[in-house]
Amino acid sequence: MPAPLTGSCLCGAIRYTIGVPVTELRACHCTHCQKASGAGGSVNAALPSSAFTITQGSPKRYDTKADSGRTLYRYFCGGCGSPIYSQRATTPETVVVRAGTLDNAGEMKIAVNIWTKSARPWDYIDPASKQFPAQPDAPAPTK
Ligand SMILES: [Zn+2]
Ligand SMILES: [Zn+2]
Repeated sequence: MPAPLTGSCLCGAIRYTIGVPVTELRACHCTHCQKASGAGGSVNAALPSSAFTITQGSPKRYDTKADSGRTLYRYFCGGCGSPIYSQRATTPETVVVRAGTLDNAGEMKIAVNIWTKSARPWDYIDPASKQFPAQPDAPAPTK
């Protein structure tokens, strides 16, 4: 069993561990992720909620209706503002963790890009990745 992955917000008030290996990431170019990140979107590891543990602090929650029309909970640090993870109201068994908050990048790569129709023209998208103009119908990969 490899050592768990760890991560935190910028100020360090929130810390978490991930108990499953993460190799493939999914980049989201939706307009909400752009506003929430101040950048081209978000890069995420989708994993089972059971593998994700907040070990310090308690994130604040912002509820919003996502571009997909679903209610999305966005969890962030109330002290420094770092987005930590999000979760759909309808799929509490999955969490979508912001990969930039991980302490180490390991062997991760962006395998999938979603919401490419709203991607900023200056945001690079690897042509070798899987791409979806909006939300793919399939649930988030949870391997
Ligand atoms: Zn913080
Ligand atoms: Zn998004």
